[in-house]
Amino acid sequence: MILLISDLHLEEKRPDITRAFLHFLATRARQAEALYILGDFFEVWIGDDGMSPFQHEIARALRELSDAGTRIHLMHGNRDFLIGKAFCREAGCTLLSDPCTVQLGGERVLLMHGDSLCTLDVGYMKLRRWLRNPLSLLILRNLPLATRQKLARKLRNESRAQTRMKASEIVDVTPQEVLRVMAAHGVRTLIHGHTHRPAVHELEVNGQPARRIVLGDWDRQGWALQIDDEGFNQAPFELAPANASEP
Ligand code: MN
Repeated sequence: MILLISDLHLEEKRPDITRAFLHFLATRARQAEALYILGDFFEVWIGDDGMSPFQHEIARALRELSDAGTRIHLMHGNRDFLIGKAFCREAGCTLLSDPCTVQLGGERVLLMHGDSLCTLDVGYMKLRRWLRNPLSLLILRNLPLATRQKLARKLRNESRAQTRMKASEIVDVTPQEVLRVMAAHGVRTLIHGHTHRPAVHELEVNGQPARRIVLGDWDRQGWALQIDDEGFNQAPFELAPANASEP
């Protein structure tokens, strides 16, 4: 059994999400051969050298899962693209490139975070190209922590203000870009997160039936896609597990 999740946006301010995730790691994820986290795992990440005690705690919990035998694969999101090798070593996970294809449930599946599919958002695509270029990454990683903190706050505030003004088609994926990317990779299943609109979209790629599975975010509830003998199934669950010790 394989599990895929994304957009947990873990942060100290949301102990309910953290508690649900730690519970998920200690229970359901233990039964999985592999856990895929498709980006925006953390609300913000300014660099492995700037990890807070909270972020170390999450790394420790992932490490326990990987030590117990579940492979953990992590993809960058637009919030946490500065996660690096040091975190992955500490957490016992491997970093996936975006996009990447993997063999899941007996077929080749394309995995993405999803922000690169929102091509109508021209301003963001430009910013993304700048932020994710190797030279910019090198510069960013070498800025003092306080500067990175300020920059992260500025980017988040701007993105929040702009998202409110943008039409919903602009902050969703561009249908033509989905078809283009799927055809280019020769896949019939694409799994991504980012848009916070969990769904399965039936498509046609090169005359063949295909599907785009969108992972849900963890905000009012949690979401996980499970791949097993029954196929690909995503279901929501309560953030506060019924048997949690705290109310
Ligand atoms: Mn995102």
